Amino acid sequence: MRVAIIGTGYVGLVSGACFAEFGFDVTCVDKDKGKIDRLLQGEMPIYEPGLDTLVAGNVKAGRLSFGTELKPAVAAADAVFIAVGTPSRRGDGHADLSYVYAAAKEIAEAMDGYTVVVTKSTVPVGTGREVERIIRETRPDADFDVASNPEFLREGAAIGDFMRPDRVVIGAESPRAQAVMRELYRPLFLIETPIVMTSLETSEMIKYAANTFLATKITFINEIADLCEKLGADVHDVAKGIGLDGRIGRKFLHPGPGYGGSCFPKDTLALVRTAQEAGSPLRIVETVVDINDRRKRQMADKIVAFMDGSVAGKTIAVLGVTFKPNTDDMRDAPSLVILPALIAAGATVRAYDPVGMEEAARHIEGVAWCEGAYEAMDGADAAVVLTEWNEFRGLSVERMKQSLARPVMIDLRNIYEPKDMAEAGFRYTCVGRPTPG
Ligand code: NAD
Repeated sequence: MRVAIIGTGYVGLVSGACFAEFGFDVTCVDKDKGKIDRLLQGEMPIYEPGLDTLVAGNVKAGRLSFGTELKPAVAAADAVFIAVGTPSRRGDGHADLSYVYAAAKEIAEAMDGYTVVVTKSTVPVGTGREVERIIRETRPDADFDVASNPEFLREGAAIGDFMRPDRVVIGAESPRAQAVMRELYRPLFLIETPIVMTSLETSEMIKYAANTFLATKITFINEIADLCEKLGADVHDVAKGIGLDGRIGRKFLHPGPGYGGSCFPKDTLALVRTAQEAGSPLRIVETVVDINDRRKRQMADKIVAFMDGSVAGKTIAVLGVTFKPNTDDMRDAPSLVILPALIAAGATVRAYDPVGMEEAARHIEGVAWCEGAYEAMDGADAAVVLTEWNEFRGLSVERMKQSLARPVMIDLRNIYEPKDMAEAGFRYTCVGRPTPG
């Protein structure tokens, strides 16, 4: 079985490396020559734990290759995965499908023999049918099927998620396409991964329903956290107390500065637009989008309020800027709103992130980037935790206190214990937990 992956980003590269690890012959194609050049030199274009080793091993075994030329890769493939970006379209929030449709046309021109064209990108309901129409129109003679196979991996844990997913969702309607898709995921069926085999439309809908549900869960606990703050309750215990109920579940009940990243913000918005156009609005999701947008700005206000109402002329040390730990992805990270707001309010911002600074510096101006957490805190009037990188959990409270000009901490990821911080002499605040004193 030969596989071509179109788009070598977070999803394409991880899927390609994992399919190669399953034993298939995989070519990853990208239009971005810089990305492919780096991969050909054995360098990873993204930060994802374990990816370099997985890629190197499969390249060495001759199962994984990279190129900018789509034609030969597609002509040789039994299955072609479209894993290009589907960002928010400027202005209206719909998913921008121009990359998907351009790839579909190119694939149609290059196909040779029976091919299953699979949309792995997150695409609105109806996109698979349109891909089918484009291919048929471009190549009326082509022997093909279109399938949908949404990806549920999380950046930072992508390889484990791909290799041991909770489920695999496949939208494939012909027995031939179903057989190809089953064969591709056979190694997972051996470990009894559940498979949901369904129609194209249902498969596309599952991905959006999953992401909007998770975004709603985060937003729910964020609002409960705000209420806990007002009433003196502890949101950690509330999350535990409700999460132990099997109907609710413990995951995604961690409060913070609002969800970000390359998926939830754009996918929630795209589903809102789809639903409005279909005349069946999703009012819950509309509210979630609105609350989350406001939350990032509110977090900047929370920081200012805790610093006695003004940050003008003050220095703030920011720990973490990526939207979550273990990734260099800065897309829609809360820091993109919070840092500029603090700078606009007159603060000097010194920031450190273990892997995200290079990417962040492209998007946020006026930040002094530092080599480490203690360096960022050196002489600062307060420290703000924006991303819960593990290395921040292990910082010495004493050393932080020595580094800072004032022992003030605004912990927007709740990585420290309020009691410990108070005992160490910090003025400390977090999200939704009572703080002593
Ligand atoms: P990305 O931006 O990291 O990568 C997309 C790649 O596609 C880019 O390298 C781009 O150069 C390439 N590309 C675009 N058009 C091309 C073409 N015609 N031919 C060859 N290459 C082309 O995107 P990503 O984060 O990997 O996301 C891809 C899709 O997967 C999106 O729809 C996203 O919503 C979905 N998804 C992402 C994640 C995630 O965690 N990142 C998780 C699940 C699903």
